[in-house]
Amino acid sequence: MNIVMKHLLSDPRIDFSYCMQCGGCTAVCPAASISDRYNPREMMYRLINKMDLMDYPLEECFHCYSCKYICKLGNSASDIVKVLKEEKSEREYREHPIYKTFYERGLCATPDILPPDKILDWGPSYERAWNAVKRFSSLREIPHDSMVDLQRIADLSEDKRFKKINDLEIPKKEIKTDKIYLFKSCFMDAQYPGATESMRYIFDKLKIDYLDDPRQSSCTGFAYYADLMPFGTMLVNNARNFAIAEESGYKNIATACVTSYGVLNECKSILDSGIGEESNKILKRVDLKYKGDVNVMHVFEVLHALRSKIKKKIKNRFDGLPVAIHYGCHYTKMFRELTIPNSLEDLVSVTGAVPVDYGEKDLCCGMGFSDTLNNRDHSRRIAERKLLSIKEAGAKVVISACPGCQITFDRNQEYIEKKIGERFDLVHLNYSQLIALAMGADPNEVVGIQTHSNPIEPVLEEFGF
Ligand code: SF4
Ligand code: SF4
Repeated sequence: MNIVMKHLLSDPRIDFSYCMQCGGCTAVCPAASISDRYNPREMMYRLINKMDLMDYPLEECFHCYSCKYICKLGNSASDIVKVLKEEKSEREYREHPIYKTFYERGLCATPDILPPDKILDWGPSYERAWNAVKRFSSLREIPHDSMVDLQRIADLSEDKRFKKINDLEIPKKEIKTDKIYLFKSCFMDAQYPGATESMRYIFDKLKIDYLDDPRQSSCTGFAYYADLMPFGTMLVNNARNFAIAEESGYKNIATACVTSYGVLNECKSILDSGIGEESNKILKRVDLKYKGDVNVMHVFEVLHALRSKIKKKIKNRFDGLPVAIHYGCHYTKMFRELTIPNSLEDLVSVTGAVPVDYGEKDLCCGMGFSDTLNNRDHSRRIAERKLLSIKEAGAKVVISACPGCQITFDRNQEYIEKKIGERFDLVHLNYSQLIALAMGADPNEVVGIQTHSNPIEPVLEEFGF
């Protein structure tokens, strides 16, 4: 066995035994569709034939998990890329603003991470939207005591190598509507804070018993996939998030973001495979213990279970509004066994909106994590395909469940329109924003429509707002 394979197989994230070279992963891989240097089947060939992979362009992977979704043997090129990239890492992440923001404030993103003067290609509409975000509400502040614990965890876990103990199992998920731990997203709050505010608005109107815990840190998912956060820190940081949720009695974690949903389910699966005890040695230093009691859901799954109650509270209907649903790959493909089919379509339909089918529904948004920071043209090539397909299907609004996807579509739309000389005129909303608007929430104060690059007003005017 070569050293790379031996190393891979000892990693708790990897479940790989054989590749029959069927090419299924390459057929659905968005990176392979735009690159002549990268394809997952070839990467697997190199791996099983003990060829060098350190020069392979691993950074081209979008981490969309289409390869895992399609592979009959359950192989995940995405996870293999993650582990191999860590081998190449030279710890430059410590100087990156995203890691520093996590270390100093417990969040991976604040509005300062993506200022308009550093992202000129998002255009003047982004400058206006960014200023509106800064005025929207105060930034999340993690209490000082929690920050002391988080820094301790980061220092103790940074070089920790977790070795596989047992094979991973798919985490068990139950859809609960009570004792909800609202797991906020730092990218959502840094770009579209009205989406989180809309979730709080809907929860309050439905009288859901939920905890909005200021101690909750970032899931670190964006940083982890962008090679800016060590695996050990990501894992123990989330063991801490789980431990405080367990301690509070609000064990039903509902994530605002699809990346958080995938990362928390991944962490739960790894911790429950025996690694929880190893992590607890670090958590003990901050007087916490992970017991394995949490239940991880997405917020839209909670609302889907309560859709008949929501229906009774609709004040402003969007009857006949054609919408395109985009779930996010880390919901549909990363843990496909946990997916509730058609849940978002059913949920937004209570507003009167009509979900339309479109050819590229399964395609990733193109966010690609590090691409959003370093290679936006790579992202935009995929986003363009997706938006063209949505426009062709006649949708007026794109409904996302993930802030990363919404950022990719909304912030890049104007640039893509100019590049291809065609207007999409699409509006981008989180499902919670559409539902909150329909329930009577204030478009600016709650929903935060002023923080979007593409104006929402034309749709609101059409429906008499
Ligand atoms: S990883 Fe799976 S899908 Fe890809 S070539 Fe191998 S067997 Fe086929
Ligand atoms: S995660 Fe997506 S981009 Fe990466 S290899 Fe798999 S299919 Fe291709």
